[in-house]
Amino acid sequence: MKRTKSKRLFDEALRRIPGGVDSPVRAFKAVGGEPLFIRSAKGSKLVDADANVFIDYVGSWGPMILGHAHPRVLKAVGEAMRRGTSFGAPCELEVQLAGEVIRAVPSIQKVRFVSSGTEAVMGAVRAARGFTGRKKIIKFDGCYHGHADYLLVKAGSGAQTLGQPDSAGVPSEFTEQTLVARFNDLDSVEVLFKACPGEIAAVILEPVVGNMGVILPRDGFLQNVRELCNREEALLIFDEVMTGFRLAYGGAQEVYGVKPDLTTLGKIIGGGMPVGAYGGRAEVMDMVAPAGPVYQAGTLSGNPMAMAAGLETLKILKAAKPYRTLEKKVGALCNGLREAAKKAGVPVTVAQAGSMFTVFFAEGGIKNADDARRCDAERFAKFFRAMLERRVYLAPSQFEACFVSAAHSEKDFRLTVKAAEEAFEEIVRT
Ligand code: PLP
Repeated sequence: MKRTKSKRLFDEALRRIPGGVDSPVRAFKAVGGEPLFIRSAKGSKLVDADANVFIDYVGSWGPMILGHAHPRVLKAVGEAMRRGTSFGAPCELEVQLAGEVIRAVPSIQKVRFVSSGTEAVMGAVRAARGFTGRKKIIKFDGCYHGHADYLLVKAGSGAQTLGQPDSAGVPSEFTEQTLVARFNDLDSVEVLFKACPGEIAAVILEPVVGNMGVILPRDGFLQNVRELCNREEALLIFDEVMTGFRLAYGGAQEVYGVKPDLTTLGKIIGGGMPVGAYGGRAEVMDMVAPAGPVYQAGTLSGNPMAMAAGLETLKILKAAKPYRTLEKKVGALCNGLREAAKKAGVPVTVAQAGSMFTVFFAEGGIKNADDARRCDAERFAKFFRAMLERRVYLAPSQFEACFVSAAHSEKDFRLTVKAAEEAFEEIVRT
């Protein structure tokens, strides 16, 4: 495959941008080789700077559930753009998108828009602390909630990929109020509540984890955490930046029937533009400035182009209801991948949640971060490279989810499974 232009761009980027990229996992460090520079994207396909075309299973890390450059989304953004790109004052689109989010997610009575998932989580945690008057939070090993200092503790995603679960530059004092439990292990949460009675402001988790690869909650786990939070008068925060409008229109909380106090959103609600949001019970959200004393602000929050992209994306999703079909199609794709691995004698676990999936290079089911860390990440890297050679662009890390869009076709899936059959055979040989 020709990579001349991507290579030249990466060389230049390395001189100007730390590591040559603006977000670590894009650098392909975990899988070897150099990143491709993308020139354009349409539907299920990415085109790189050398005009190679790939079937894309990254989908900009989640937002592109409708596929890239959906004509209606582009039109809505174009119309908004012609009216001005940013006002720094309220606009109607914010009210409309807030209305749609509130209708879609029953636990959300009020919502605040920000510009990224990281900001959304920071806002939600601050609101929870402000509301409860407590300091500590519980997170789960392997869950990623953005790059706020106090959440870079046992974070999954890029932090896991780079083997540095904690970041340099974060003083240990900043993470002292963050306690870490094991996903799918209620006892590990109870122990922390017992150790710090009356001190826990909130429990935050990805209800279905995407950031250590796809990991589903055990039966009853989310319900049990909900009950524990009720008993301890701590707030429950579902980080649905990835799963919101992805697993169902109402997110993972609709699928599992559990109501958090606060929810964070991002990715899909921005339709590919930079957006995050946090929302929940009105009495908690009314703590947020200027309604209440919890300060949070943003120059580009509620940006009209981003609101337009998000609103149009939600309108299309609401009308098309693609979730069942997507789940079925991705189920068939996952079966194809399992069979291909089995035929080649490669032990894998293929995990699926709706239109998200991960090929874990370990057998026996993956229930938590410790299980995920057992995976043969080197073998995954070989598989990734073999798939990329065959024009299939997977998430470049063992500890990430792949995303499928409504624009992926049966032909895409056939080609993907065929590529996987060859890739699994290849990694056995080498
Ligand atoms: N929360 C979750 C669950 C995420 O997956 C991410 C990003 O992948 C974030 C928060 C942070 O979002 P952003 O990258 O927009 O800051």
